Amino acid sequence: MSAEKAQALVLRARPFGETSAIITCLTREVGKVRGLAKGAWRPKSKFDAALDLLSICQVLVLHRSSGNLDLFTEAFLEHRFRIGRYESSFAAGLYIAELLDSVTVDADPQPELFDLATRAIRFLSAPRPGQRNEQGSAPDSRTVSALIIHTELGILHQLGQLPSLHCCAECQRPLEGRRISFSMLGGGGLCPRCRRGKRSVVSISSEAIVSLRQLADSFDQSENTSQSEPPFGEIRAIMNTLFANILGYRLKTSHWLAKTFSSSREKHR
Ligand SMILES: [Zn+2]
Repeated sequence: MSAEKAQALVLRARPFGETSAIITCLTREVGKVRGLAKGAWRPKSKFDAALDLLSICQVLVLHRSSGNLDLFTEAFLEHRFRIGRYESSFAAGLYIAELLDSVTVDADPQPELFDLATRAIRFLSAPRPGQRNEQGSAPDSRTVSALIIHTELGILHQLGQLPSLHCCAECQRPLEGRRISFSMLGGGGLCPRCRRGKRSVVSISSEAIVSLRQLADSFDQSENTSQSEPPFGEIRAIMNTLFANILGYRLKTSHWLAKTFSSSREKHR
């Protein structure tokens, strides 16, 4: 048996027996780890909140022989996800966790992916009373929408599946016109000539492609050089279809995400 120390983000926690839990973590050092945390859900657990969903923590993992679940023997909390006023931030956190769990395999460390994920989770978490987090207050639903898309594009980049947003994926001609052909089966933007005969190609607006380019670089809307707001509804539909094509199924939390965003938009009207 070997033990490893790692920085971890808790993606999933499900009950095991009366008080134990099976925890899925994305770690910076050893990639995704699934393991048993004995007594994690006892009232006075030694893990405290470190293995709660969306916590960022330091863990000690004991690798056991094949066929046996690894064991979490220690966990120290670094950052606890705080649910603030906005349900959309929590929905976004759970969506990012499910997405990361879906696109990663066990024991394949990707430190850049881990850093991208933990930055997003820290940003979405509400500040403690009397404290400020990076953005000074809980992010509004537009910033959350932008952050999710920025994180999704970062994940696609890490997977080597970032769609072509500047030029035709096949012949590298610049993408022009008010409507752009966009291949969902890989590649992204296509010029009219390369579009012919392709399956799963949709027509997207030039505003959507310009926003996707900006959001790939930054989710900070104050850096958005175009005057208008990104067409978030259209971009959300593009991202959902892209990931459904990559994964072969639609993420469970994407439905909740869509619901919380439509209700928060109504409240802002
Ligand atoms: Zn082309």
